[in-house]
Amino acid sequence: MIPRGNLRAVSHEKKEVAMFTAFLIKYAEIGIKGKNRFLFEDALIQQIKYALKKCEGEFSVHKTQGRIFVEAQTEFDFDQVTGRLRRVFGISGICPVVYVEDEGFDKLCHRVVSYIAQVYPERNKTFKVHARRARKNYPKDSMGINTEMGEAILKAYPEMKVDVHQPDILLNIEVREKIYIYSEMIPGPGGMPVGTGGKAMLLLSGGIDSPVAGYMIAKRGVKIDAVYFHAPPYTSERAKQKVMDLARLLAGYAGPVYLHVINFTDIQLYIYEKCPHEELTIIMRRYMMRIAEQIAEETQCLGLVTGESIGQVASQTMNSLLATNEVCGLPVYRPLIGFDKQEIIEVSEKIGTYETSIQPFEDCCTIFVAKHPVTKPNLNVIRRHEHNLDERIDELMENALKTKELIVAE
Ligand code: ATP
Ligand code: MG
Repeated sequence: MIPRGNLRAVSHEKKEVAMFTAFLIKYAEIGIKGKNRFLFEDALIQQIKYALKKCEGEFSVHKTQGRIFVEAQTEFDFDQVTGRLRRVFGISGICPVVYVEDEGFDKLCHRVVSYIAQVYPERNKTFKVHARRARKNYPKDSMGINTEMGEAILKAYPEMKVDVHQPDILLNIEVREKIYIYSEMIPGPGGMPVGTGGKAMLLLSGGIDSPVAGYMIAKRGVKIDAVYFHAPPYTSERAKQKVMDLARLLAGYAGPVYLHVINFTDIQLYIYEKCPHEELTIIMRRYMMRIAEQIAEETQCLGLVTGESIGQVASQTMNSLLATNEVCGLPVYRPLIGFDKQEIIEVSEKIGTYETSIQPFEDCCTIFVAKHPVTKPNLNVIRRHEHNLDERIDELMENALKTKELIVAE
């Protein structure tokens, strides 16, 4: 693989970028053999199309002979397009491609020599030509192309050397109707295309953790819907806006995110009135899980996702997790369970949610946070105290579900 610095140099010189007119999309093939392969590829194509919708220019995305190509049909912004493609799960690498017409081998050598001049301003590098002849009536076979093209390059740039084992530059020449030249690979995010792994309901708060949890599950091919528990006036409109912003950032990776906003105020106040304050958080969290599960079932989600990590706060000790886990039948996925805060922060910085997450809008009013919350809740005690809510809780939950707001973040 070529150092990225070169690509950047190319991408910032508008004239030179114009020579790339397509991208070959590489994806990991492990686990997608046989029947699953076309599902994987079709989902990937759909995600690529979605990602490119917000880019300037027109693109065609198609599959030929087991490979996916993105072809630009108009001018486009190289950095914008590669920036978008780098967020599409399932892509392991993005190769910018130059197409040339077949105008004879000499002309092709000439084009390749000028390709090298543009892409590799520093040429004290080793290289290898790797030709593929997909069009069998081309007058030279791939071995012939490799050696003769190699000679032409050496003649043009005597400072370059051939290395067939570990070349700095692997120059791919594919002979099809047109001839494709590519040698660079921009790394993709890996993972599986969203949509190949079902759908899950993310409990999305305004914090650092839950967006990262959503990202990690989406990376495995799972489509993400989200639910946010809003408690006005104890939580501000800005806190809700922040969650919407986070959902939009997630959508940059995972496709549109359907965000369900639940007005949680009445339930929270009722729990505050009826239950011991050191158990407030746990009982609140149990109601969040119950409501999230109901929405998940209505929307065909196969599991819940949270940003919990063992021991991070009182409500995330093993005992507390046991208590919150108890109330739902769907599996609860907690991809951050073994992560330290610092590790979570690193991912959130990498994926671009950190700056939004740390905006100082309280996502939970301090009146609902006990001074000494239980860290080892006793299940029987919690259940007993929840009976204090029997009179009105069903009606309040029903009302919360009835008045929920749906926002499509994309
Ligand atoms: P985060 O940084 O993700 O907000 P946290 O460290 O603040 O998490 P908790 O408040 O205990 O931890 O929440 C644990 C998890 O519960 C969150 O990661 C999130 O998945 C979910 N959660 C908490 N509050 C809300 C809320 N208001 N709406 C939706 N989900 C929530
Ligand atoms: Mg938080």
